[in-house]
Order: sequence, then C-alpha cells, then structure tokens
Amino acid sequence: MPDHAPGQKQKLIKPKLSMPGRKPRLSMKDVLLWSKGEPPKPGPRRIGIHTSTAGGVQIAAERAYRLGANTLQIFSSSPRQWKPYLLAKTQCNEMRRLRDKYEISPLAIHSSYLVNLASATPEFHRKSVEAFRGELQRGISLCAEYLVLHPGSFRGRSREEGLELVARSIAEAARGLELEKSSLKVLIENTAGAEFSLGGSFDQVAQLLEYLRPVCPVGACIDTCHTHVSGYDIVSEAGWHKTMQQLDDTVGLKNVCVWHCNDAKDPCGSKRDRHEHIGKGTIGLEPFRRLLNDPRTEHAAFIAETPINEPQDDLKNVAMLKSLVEVQSKKRRA
Ligand SMILES: [Zn+2]
Ligand SMILES: [Zn+2]
Repeated sequence: MPDHAPGQKQKLIKPKLSMPGRKPRLSMKDVLLWSKGEPPKPGPRRIGIHTSTAGGVQIAAERAYRLGANTLQIFSSSPRQWKPYLLAKTQCNEMRRLRDKYEISPLAIHSSYLVNLASATPEFHRKSVEAFRGELQRGISLCAEYLVLHPGSFRGRSREEGLELVARSIAEAARGLELEKSSLKVLIENTAGAEFSLGGSFDQVAQLLEYLRPVCPVGACIDTCHTHVSGYDIVSEAGWHKTMQQLDDTVGLKNVCVWHCNDAKDPCGSKRDRHEHIGKGTIGLEPFRRLLNDPRTEHAAFIAETPINEPQDDLKNVAMLKSLVEVQSKKRRA
C-alpha cells in the first residue's frame, strides 16, 4: 500500500503522539494552519479522509471537522514502528468530546503496516500478534467503531493456511479484551492482490469473515483502488453492477462498513497499489457517484486515503466525494 494518504504522514510529521503542551511539527499541508472561518458543512453521507494525528491522536477530530468531514480514519500509533504506544486517558476523553461536539462518526483506525498475522517467521508473527493486540486496546480506549486490517502475506505457506492463521492470530490477540462490550469491530480490507497477499478477492475476504465471526465482531472494508487493480471491473456500468453483485454474494454489502474511496494510478488488473485523487485516475468519477448513491451502501462510511501533494488536497477530495451525493439522497435523510 505504498501511496496511501498515510504515506504522507512520514513526510509531514513524525506521528508523535505528544505530551500535552508539546508543540507539534506542522506543514502548510495541515488544515490547522490554513483553515479560516466556518468549515464546509457535512452532507447526508458519512464522508471523510485518513487524517493526521500530529500533536496528539485527539487533534485528528479537529482536523476532520475543519475539512468538512463527518467521519475519519487515523493511525493510533506510528504505522511503521513496532514500539507500542499507550494513549493517555485525557487524549481518549478529548477525542470523545470533539467527536460528540462535531458529530463525527464512525472513527476508523487503520492498523500498522508492519502487522502480518500470516507471517511464516515465528519472531515476526509474535511481534505482529502483540502489535495487533495493542491496536485493539487503543481502539477500545478511543471508543473507535472500526479497526481496519490488511490480512497480510502468506509467503511460506499455502493461502488456506495463511487465512486460517490470520483468524487464529486475531483470536489470540483479542483474548480477554471483551471486544463484545466495546463498540469496536475488526474490518478486513480487500487488497490489491499482489503475489502472496491475502484478501485480493472478495471470496478471500468472505472466507476470513466466516472464520472470524465466532472470534470477534467483524465486517469488511472495501477499497475501490484495490478492487480495481486486483482485476474487478468497476468502471464500465455493466462491470460495476456485476462487481457489486459479486461483492454482495460473497462478503455481503450489508457487511461492508467502510469504503476506502481512492482513485488509482494504475489500470484494472495491474495489482499495483498507488492511490490517486478522486476522479483523476483510471477509475474516474462515475463509479464513485454510483457508489455514493447506491441505497445498499447507505449505512457505510466513505473514507479517502488519497495523497496530499499540495495543501488542501485533502479538503478537495472530501469535497469531491460530497459533491457526488445526489440531492435525492439528501432529501431522504433530511
Ligand atoms: Zn492501498
Ligand atoms: Zn485502503
């Protein structure tokens, strides 16, 4: 997942979830530095973007609000470091307060990129399970609704063994955490389908959900870029309907809690995962319009993970998604 919005975090800020009072390092790409006056109003759908946690995880809620978003996704820890991070109670309370104040929901947490619960290397596997347990703990203490997980790489095993191991590893990581009492659901994300990656088809995501249902509350996160580059046609109108039907027959559209809305730099079937601004890539605007106006996706959150090359790119991508929601759907909710 090289070109995720999360990728920018490295350049922008070291996601230092700081002590209160510490000054975060900011760049002009940060909405907190350029936003003035009233932010754009959210629309009838839950639309947001992966948001920086520079200066403290709770500050992401303020950023989301200023971007005109009513949902958000964050990393709860540095996405490329093993070091576990525990959140202070005050940070969790502040996140809760800001989300209530701005009516931002759901909160999705994206798991660290290092976690591979199917790893064939015992040391790496153990670290992954521990790190994922940390993700679950932070998700619970932040009152997050979703924890998004890429199912990992099965290199060194069969795909089937890989899928089973992921399910067992999640069970191990979740032991004793009483997930049922929290609001947290684990969402399995479909992937771009590169060699050895699990979750490159709807069938594999569905199979994992089957394994996981007895273990913890689960659902799916479907990424439009990953769907497209893994080989499903979502661009032609006929292809779109067929793909949505396939998704419904396997994972079930009602189980898709989050849609990662990313355009793609690469063609359908390329298996290359590089995200592009909404409407500027090989997917184009139309599929996003269909997605956002489909009554079968009304319950879901739509979260962009698009690049921030220039200041306000995040604002523009959120605004673009919101602009695709048609009036009818606004009326229905009003
Ligand atoms: Zn991706
Ligand atoms: Zn994604």
